[in-house]
Amino acid sequence: MKIHKELFVGGEFVKSHDGRTFQDVNPANEELICDVALASIVDVNEAVDSSEAAQREWAALDPSRRGQIVMAMADAIEANGDELANIDCLDGGRPLPDCQEDIHAAAKMFRYFGGLADKAFGQTIPVQNDKLCYTKREPYGVIAAITAWNYPLFNASAKVAPIIAMGNSCILKPAEETPLTALRLAEILQDIDGVPPGLISVVTGPGEETGEALTRHERIRKVSFTGSTDTGRQILIATAQSNLKGAVLELGGKGPFLIFDDADLEMALNAITFSVFYNQGQTCTAGTRLIVPKMIIDQVINGLRDRISRIEVGDPRDESTVVGPLISKTQFDKVCGYISDARSDGYTPIIGQGKVEGFASGFYVEPTVFLDLPQGYKLCTDEVFGPILVVNTFETDDEAIRIANSSNYGLAASIWTASSKRLVNAVDRIDSGIVWCNTTFAEHPGAPAGGFNQSGFGREYGTSAIDEYTRLKTIWIDKSGEFFSWP
Ligand code: NAD
Repeated sequence: MKIHKELFVGGEFVKSHDGRTFQDVNPANEELICDVALASIVDVNEAVDSSEAAQREWAALDPSRRGQIVMAMADAIEANGDELANIDCLDGGRPLPDCQEDIHAAAKMFRYFGGLADKAFGQTIPVQNDKLCYTKREPYGVIAAITAWNYPLFNASAKVAPIIAMGNSCILKPAEETPLTALRLAEILQDIDGVPPGLISVVTGPGEETGEALTRHERIRKVSFTGSTDTGRQILIATAQSNLKGAVLELGGKGPFLIFDDADLEMALNAITFSVFYNQGQTCTAGTRLIVPKMIIDQVINGLRDRISRIEVGDPRDESTVVGPLISKTQFDKVCGYISDARSDGYTPIIGQGKVEGFASGFYVEPTVFLDLPQGYKLCTDEVFGPILVVNTFETDDEAIRIANSSNYGLAASIWTASSKRLVNAVDRIDSGIVWCNTTFAEHPGAPAGGFNQSGFGREYGTSAIDEYTRLKTIWIDKSGEFFSWP
């Protein structure tokens, strides 16, 4: 397993100019993995210089050749899959089989967007007969991708693949909690024939310094961001105060998971357990608010209790582990803080108790469930980003939809019913960018994904990538050979 801890700029690993580093800690045992280079504005400037040069060379390639190279990146990821999965497991504390699944999901991104590289069409516009008017799609130039730590390889791939497929270069800033996969990924992709040095750079460091150096940079033309809503706001301020670059914002969520009384309850309970506790509850699209009919609440709680009793919390390298540690001490304190505050406010969990006893180190929290907290209470409104489920009950369909929509977020919802009338009605009324019906966590590189409201704007995946990562140019050509005299 190759662990890199320097910046990846101009196609090679380099130290930060001022020699500063930050600590990268293993969340499973709190041991230091390594000190990683901290990129300042000077390092970011260098990354932009090489990224601009690489982009000119890259954009000059035939789009189909570009596409072939991006598709070759998918093969390279799969060929190095074991190593990348092990780095993700070490750095992010995610169970190894989960990290292995991400290898294929990441490769699929590169394959899909490689195929899209020569399909960024313009239009011919019917205008006055003496003119030809058409549009064409052009790359922005250098685009910054800033990612969260929850799916390190996947989050990076979901940005790098479409950004470069559309002819841009990409400067990637992974989360400071999980910098290692991005560094190794960049090296693997650089080795592919035809990739100009600097096409993909990786600058590591904290958001307030390295991230801001990117979002405020005058020669970076767009930012693609995945992270919290609060940081999304900071990014918009930075882009507004610099060169007014555009942004794609994939932000937080507080997903409603709505089960009607005619749903297949066993299947729905399997799905909510997976949705809210997979990846230690650190998924933006997780169904963290279960909304169920009052008359079946006992069945629901018993079903959850049974399923949760089978979830093994432990070291992410152990084969039996289903749920590993949370990503960091900060996240652990935040999640445990919500649970202890709830206890102080008189609300006791009905399943689980938060922190798992018996681990000498590591950030282990067990699946924890609260029932019928008052709407508006912070566990019902805030994105906790840990294995905590809140269950609310309803008596009418209208009440169910009202509870589902009582959030400032609007990323992903899941609806369970056997009635097509109920389903279509709920789909129309739910305020959410993604709605899963009788399923959850379905995704594909071809299906647009993104949020409503404070879950952000812009869409990743599918042909939305063409809209997000190219600029539209409108061209007028005179056919008449005449121009009137004026004045
Ligand atoms: P975060 O916002 O703290 O950090 C995300 C990234 O932004 C990191 O790389 C961080 O260094 C950087 N950053 C922080 N401050 C910055 C600043 N001022 N300027 C520029 N960059 C800055 O989020 P997190 O805690 O790493 O991740 C969890 C969040 O990500 C959750 O809210 C989750 O819902 C969200 N998320 C959303 C999606 C989605 O697709 N909508 C996917 C995954 C995660």
